[in-house]
Amino acid sequence: MSFDLVLFGGTGDLAWRKLMPALFQAFRHGSLPPDGRIVGVARDDLSDDQYRELIQSRFSAVEGAKRPSPEEFKKFASMLHYLRMDLSKPDDYARLAGLLNQRDAKTVVMYVATAPALFTQVVEQIAAAGLNGPRTRIVLEKPLGHDLASNRAINSAVGKVLEEKQVFRIDHYLGKPSVQNLFAMRFGNALFEPIWRREHISNIQITIAEDLGVEKRGAFYDQTGALRDMVQNHALQLLCAVAMEPPINAHADAIRDEKLKVLRALKPWTPESLGLHAVRGQYTAGTAYGERVPGYRDEAGVNPDSRTETFVALRTEIANWRWAGVPFYIRTGKRLASRDARIEVNFRPTPHAIYRAPAGNVNKLVINLQPKDGLELHMLAQAQDNRQRNGHQSSAAQLAPVQLDLDFDKRFGSERVGAYERLLLDVIDGRLNLFVRSDEQEEAWRWVEPLIDNWESDGGPRPYAAGTWGPSASSAMIARDGFSWGEEQ
Ligand code: NAP
Repeated sequence: MSFDLVLFGGTGDLAWRKLMPALFQAFRHGSLPPDGRIVGVARDDLSDDQYRELIQSRFSAVEGAKRPSPEEFKKFASMLHYLRMDLSKPDDYARLAGLLNQRDAKTVVMYVATAPALFTQVVEQIAAAGLNGPRTRIVLEKPLGHDLASNRAINSAVGKVLEEKQVFRIDHYLGKPSVQNLFAMRFGNALFEPIWRREHISNIQITIAEDLGVEKRGAFYDQTGALRDMVQNHALQLLCAVAMEPPINAHADAIRDEKLKVLRALKPWTPESLGLHAVRGQYTAGTAYGERVPGYRDEAGVNPDSRTETFVALRTEIANWRWAGVPFYIRTGKRLASRDARIEVNFRPTPHAIYRAPAGNVNKLVINLQPKDGLELHMLAQAQDNRQRNGHQSSAAQLAPVQLDLDFDKRFGSERVGAYERLLLDVIDGRLNLFVRSDEQEEAWRWVEPLIDNWESDGGPRPYAAGTWGPSASSAMIARDGFSWGEEQ
């Protein structure tokens, strides 16, 4: 199946850090269809060979096992091409049309990995150049817009020239093997479904913690912040995956319909809940990997008076029969104590205690997303406690926490298909299951927008030292419900 993949932003950070390595892995695994062309597009004046050299030099930064040998790169590089275009200039699209019309590839994928400000223009110009026919698929990176209105404007421009089935809105969390496993665990097994509800679950916690700061992306991040960068998309998609009803089949729209229902059922914000159930923070100088690191406002590209949040913790509920009254906590941030993405499903305690049991959530299912990929089921087991009493040996029952630990990397091998590799292959094959529909995305923006509005006029983010778990208000928020974050238990 021949394909042309046009990478708008072919010299950018995303292209060389994620997309090119993912395409190479697909090539190495033999899953990239033959007869493909990968065309990098940017404004630099480069020949095909210069572009290949640029990509090859950047592969040296890729982790060892994923780096191509010179022979492998030679073969892969024969697919790589380069086209100089200024995407803001309508005339330049004629050259793109010339290149794509050189042959009749079965599929044309246009991956828009440039600043979101260019999205609408790119889509309109693709259509003006007659490149929006049925063989075209467009991939749009996040964040798609910076609020509901701008998101709608992009989706409306896209909807005028392409059918929804041609549009692949990427949320790379959905491509992670661990998220596939969450779907498989819930909908491929009968075990958990009967207890996956309010009667048995006390609270659910979604944590996406990064130990890194903003690195070289300070200017981008300062315009974006944790809410737009992580909550509106990744965290809400994880919440949907954990809370949705079983879909009627595995088709894209059946899955997306159920996710949309969850987003629609999220409790709307009120002035009271905006104060009590939303915490935002910004890191100050602290420690990471045993070394002193600067505060957010001292990072390159960041406004020294910035009010942008690098941490968000939220509490919400889903107003439906399955989940009414169960708190869902979302927490994400940069420069936190560790790199750790996980979902914790905390079950209710036993209705009647006959053992002396440790306090806290004893039964929980932890879905590890990164760096580990696996499941942990936490339970209590009886540990023998031998004591001397009046010279006699006696045995007292004592319960100790144990866990069933399923490590998918060990079980299936860590060389599994990565998120971008999986998603790029899905686009080429036309599978939409793991991509976000416009109505889902709009609903997610609608839900976060009161937070954005409120934070424009409040006292600003709360400081937290780099290398900690965020402002203390985040622990206080969850403690008011009688719970604590996973690492505090
Ligand atoms: P970037 O490093 O700034 O790269 C932007 C790319 O677009 C460069 O190749 C740039 O090349 C090209 N470009 C910019 N203006 C252009 C124009 N008028 N005509 C043609 N090419 C143009 O940005 P990035 O970090 O790769 O991010 C790209 C997109 O992916 C953004 O929407 C971002 O939000 C999203 N994203 C990025 C990451 C990440 O880890 N980097 C993660 C998730 C999502 P020239 O300037 O040389 O033309």
